[in-house]
Amino acid sequence: MDELRYSHDWDVVIVGAGPVGGHTADLLAKRGHRVLLLEEHNEIGRPFQCAGLVTPNAMHQVGLYETILEEIDGALIHGPSGTLVPVGTGGTVRTYVVCRKLFDEAVVKQSMESGATLWLNSKPKQAEVHSEGVILTVVTDSKEVNISTKLLIGCDGAHSWTRRYFRMGRPKELMVGFQTEVVGYQYRKRWLEMYSGSEIAPGFFAWVIPSGNDSCRIGLWSTADRLDGKSIEECYHNLLNHPLWKDRFSNIRETARYCGPVPSGMVRKAYKNRVLLIGDAAGMAKPTTGGGIGPGFEQINGIVDNLSNAIAENTLSEEKLKSIAKGHFEKMRKEQSRARSLRNLLVSDCEDGELDKHFEQFAKPEVIELINEVGDIEKPVPLGMALLRKVPAFRKLALKAGMKLLFS
Ligand SMILES: Cc1cc2nc3c(=O)[nH]c(=O)nc-3n(C[C@H](O)[C@H](O)[C@H](O)COP(=O)(O)OP(=O)(O)OC[C@H]3O[C@@H](n4cnc5c(N)ncnc54)[C@H](O)[C@@H]3O)c2cc1C
Repeated sequence: MDELRYSHDWDVVIVGAGPVGGHTADLLAKRGHRVLLLEEHNEIGRPFQCAGLVTPNAMHQVGLYETILEEIDGALIHGPSGTLVPVGTGGTVRTYVVCRKLFDEAVVKQSMESGATLWLNSKPKQAEVHSEGVILTVVTDSKEVNISTKLLIGCDGAHSWTRRYFRMGRPKELMVGFQTEVVGYQYRKRWLEMYSGSEIAPGFFAWVIPSGNDSCRIGLWSTADRLDGKSIEECYHNLLNHPLWKDRFSNIRETARYCGPVPSGMVRKAYKNRVLLIGDAAGMAKPTTGGGIGPGFEQINGIVDNLSNAIAENTLSEEKLKSIAKGHFEKMRKEQSRARSLRNLLVSDCEDGELDKHFEQFAKPEVIELINEVGDIEKPVPLGMALLRKVPAFRKLALKAGMKLLFS
């Protein structure tokens, strides 16, 4: 054990070769560290549980434009009673739809080209943290091996083994997402659609996203408490059979379906002695859209240079990791928390009648103009604040928002 401990087989072992694990591996391997990626499945990018939206900013960081299936200029958002709010401008790309299998594979391939090693069919069973490193027992192709590393990073998704093993808390919210892949839906090219209402997606929204080759992804998300005993599949059927929209869905043919968790609300301390959580493992998905790829990338990008120096010096105590991560992580956690407060106020905590009234306001030309001007899928807080400040009908919510934001 001693020999293992002090020779350090690896500088960094990353559990989970999803997009965030892959990108983290790439950034660290590029900085000259010996990185091992462990993936429990025997291939990358499966099972697939994602609408595939990747923001231009996140895409820019990995440059994987060849994985794009569709470019999206805007969203056609429907209130519970049908009020339509079109957000976006034709010809100006707001976000991309990718093939997640190709995207994840390409991110992991980038890391391997930078020098990282990938073990498929491999997952940790046990970890011991010592003063000089971590000894990890890994089950790989049904065999057990002991390896040592300076740092262990959990990028192992919503139900993270790393987070549970090291008792690092839980994300604030766990939404459940359900999605089908269909053909036969008549969609508007370059636009996605969103539907709201307590029967369809209580507190949240459903979506229809073009995904290339005339297919679309139809999905929705919500939380267990808001579903209040209803199954998420029931909500999906409510969307397909909704009196206002059922004609749109009458000719669809399903080719696949999936269900998955969306953890949102960063754990309080995503670091411990020689252990770090990044991405869904840390609860990084956005409370407003459920997007987790961009925030995971942002989380690691904000600390990677200082982290790299600490790995080189093998100074990776909890105190050291805290000094590296705390400022950046706290800022992201606060932003998530403010976005959640505004989301609850304007959408999630509203009965359908109240939401309809909000949609009547959103649909006014001057408000759509404001949304298009300030609205940024990456940063929803400034838009929420602008709506509360500038739309007279929302002013009475502003005081409530002020209190919530003050304490978030
Ligand atoms: C229905 C739905 C739609 C979504 N749509 C979007 C979207 O449009 N855009 C967006 O940005 N996000 C979306 N998300 C969220 C997005 O899928 C995640 O935020 C994103 O995949 C997080 O990446 P990650 O690398 O942190 O985790 P994951 O993608 O979950 O990757 C974790 C990896 O770790 C592996 N793993 C897990 N445990 C172990 C273990 N013990 N040992 C070894 N390997 C392990 C897994 O097999 C997996 O490969 C959606 C989620 C759902 C459920």
